Amino acid sequence: MNEQLVAEEAGWRTQASCLDYPALLFFGVDDSEAPAERRVREERAKRVCRPCRVRQECLEYALQAREPYGIWGGLTELERKARLRSRAV
Ligand code: SF4
Repeated sequence: MNEQLVAEEAGWRTQASCLDYPALLFFGVDDSEAPAERRVREERAKRVCRPCRVRQECLEYALQAREPYGIWGGLTELERKARLRSRAV
């Protein structure tokens, strides 16, 4: 991964709202998670992201790093893929 990206992440990470929450809220357990459970979990995670002061930095990081899993910057992996596609056109 890009070293500059990693260094920048170390900077904004310290102000992340999600530091007070378990990573499971943002990444789930495994593929056995039922779709309905997943939607509820993702909505809860997004509520943590909404007021996060480093939301934009987090989202940019995840887009540039092509983070394949989890909620970053208030978006799911599918929502991030859509965002990347919309930037490409
Ligand atoms: S936007 Fe969400 S995932 Fe990103 S640092 Fe903030 S709380 Fe954490």
